Amino acid sequence: MTVSIAEETLNPYKIAQQQVDAAAALLQLPEHVTNILKHPKRVLSVSFPVRMDDGSIRVFEGYRSQHNDAIGPTKGGIRFHPEVTLDEVKALSMWMSFKCGVVGLPYGGGKGGVICDPRTMSKGELERVSRAFMEAIADFVGPDKDIPAPDVYTTPQIMGWMMDTYSRLSGKFSPGVITGKPLIVGGSKGRNEATAQGCVYTILAALKDKGLPVEGATAAIQGFGNAGRIAARLLSEAGCKIVAVSDSKGGIYNAAGLDVELIGQLKDTASIADYGKQYSISNEQLLELDVDILVPAALENVITAVNADRIQAKIIAEAANGPTTPEADRVLAAKGITVIPDVLANAGGVTVSYFEWVQNLMHYYWSEAEVLEKLETNMIQSYVAVRDLAAEHKTDLRTAAYMISIKRIAAAMEARGWI
Ligand code: NAD
Repeated sequence: MTVSIAEETLNPYKIAQQQVDAAAALLQLPEHVTNILKHPKRVLSVSFPVRMDDGSIRVFEGYRSQHNDAIGPTKGGIRFHPEVTLDEVKALSMWMSFKCGVVGLPYGGGKGGVICDPRTMSKGELERVSRAFMEAIADFVGPDKDIPAPDVYTTPQIMGWMMDTYSRLSGKFSPGVITGKPLIVGGSKGRNEATAQGCVYTILAALKDKGLPVEGATAAIQGFGNAGRIAARLLSEAGCKIVAVSDSKGGIYNAAGLDVELIGQLKDTASIADYGKQYSISNEQLLELDVDILVPAALENVITAVNADRIQAKIIAEAANGPTTPEADRVLAAKGITVIPDVLANAGGVTVSYFEWVQNLMHYYWSEAEVLEKLETNMIQSYVAVRDLAAEHKTDLRTAAYMISIKRIAAAMEARGWI
């Protein structure tokens, strides 16, 4: 099936709404319930001045969206990226609600974003932007209201600055306001690896379901940050052969396998392109490689009606949020490709964020082994529930995942008398 790009929306908010419609139809959800779920409950738009290193004052814009808080406080990352838009943040907050629902966390979805490019900012500028954004949203967030976390181009250090600003404003140490913090100020063991680790648990389960051996399974990974880089390492440790990786500047490919550790060193000191010119490929080519496992771990809308037909992977594990459009989903399903949807595949991050928040509230901290054991149990149970529901309804994993979440959120709204 070919759909022209002109017909296909790439607006993430519209895409998230289409995904809700698909699951709501199967659940025969009343229209008013579907309508609640298709819109965030609250959205905050802020602008704030920051003094730059050259003495000039720049005004930044940012957003925070809270999609649905029927089950509990809202939760979700803050993205720093030049292409952040309000619709993107709204969509990401919706996806967070469905993600928390799939893995059974007592949260609704939230998300934030600041239009900026950390790659062009000094450490001091980044700290001032991080603190100023937290100050601008401080009344809107809180350990029992809305709890941010890291996302694209935000780091544990940024979470540390934001926690500090919030704590100063509230007059007390408030580690529970944000997750993904450095360990020394209330971070959780295992949080840094959690998104990739959770993703790898689902990939291993999907390989087993497809009767494919883990040893030697080939993998291509787009994006080499928190999610992609650690997924490459963990998949390689599990026995898979990493044949391609990329970052925002482009990718590298070697059918014989790449040295993941060496690529990490190159990324830290220079660029992954330094691996060798002869291995160079584009981000677009990486997606179309003949591999067992494809892990999009960068940004939205990379698998669309334009290239879906050319995707050859057997399993796509969406470490990134929103990498596949609904039109592409239909093409991939027709080709028999298993898509482990973002709301499940990358839910390990918010799961361990939840563990971090629980530890912050208890002031009692767990070992890494305890965190990983709880994470694995939760991810596998959630994967099995989604897989089985998809089989029962003869639908794809994404729609089944949405069905599970939507049922939970609707039950909470009913219990609270909202519907
Ligand atoms: P990150 O900032 O650590 O890394 C992002 C990576 O993507 C970098 O390697 C960057 O070079 C690369 N990149 C940026 N633009 C690109 C492009 N156009 N093409 C190819 N690569 C590009 O961010 P992250 O935390 O790894 O987030 C990546 C994805 O994972 C996002 O979709 C995010 O929402 C999702 N995610 C992250 C977490 C988390 O805990 N960090 C949790 C769930 C989902």
